[in-house]
Amino acid sequence: MGILSIKDRQADTVIFDFDGTLAVLNIDFERMRREIHTLIAAYGIDQAGLNRPFVLELIGEADRLIGRRQDDKGPAFRDEAYRLIEEIEIQAAKQGRLFQKTKQLLTALEKASVRTGIITRNCLKAVRTVFPDIDSYCPVLVTREDVHHVKPHPEQIGLALEKLGADARRTLMVGDHPLDIETGIRGGTLTAGVLTGKYHETDFMAARADLVLAEAAQLLKYLSPQP
Ligand SMILES: [Mg+2]
Repeated sequence: MGILSIKDRQADTVIFDFDGTLAVLNIDFERMRREIHTLIAAYGIDQAGLNRPFVLELIGEADRLIGRRQDDKGPAFRDEAYRLIEEIEIQAAKQGRLFQKTKQLLTALEKASVRTGIITRNCLKAVRTVFPDIDSYCPVLVTREDVHHVKPHPEQIGLALEKLGADARRTLMVGDHPLDIETGIRGGTLTAGVLTGKYHETDFMAARADLVLAEAAQLLKYLSPQP
């Protein structure tokens, strides 16, 4: 059984983010945000107080406001909002691809008996579009459909660890966004930022990541046989 040695700690489990960490998707978040704002306006909600930085949280907040005013309209808004963003996600997934070393990395970790899971704010259909044979490479995938609260809330990482029978203190959370680092910290794991997304080393240091890697595949350098 292999083990990852990070600082003076050891990990036998790795939880990965998907977009920007194991795959390139280039989701058009600006278009997503614009379309959701247009939809929210169509439901007569004042946009002034809605300044959530991420689209999923924006939908959640608008949903609460719509539900408060017109109880029967909440579900229709939610359905339409999720249909809009899924369309954009799946479009990106069709043009997306795994990073060249992703399968190699997951295979090497499995060979070393390091447990792996993937948690993502993306939808299942988009992940499967990019990675159709994901089940052969990673035993646990937690998408947003599987939980009430997405990252950085610790529900997703908690569910992944529960499914793997893993211990958070012996787990490394790997992602390309400072939000992934926050997720790991809130979930009680070690954390690593990867520079294959839009963020820089300084962003991950500010987020208090334990480790910053050029790409996820560099993790293998930290792998050693268990003493
Ligand atoms: Mg990501």
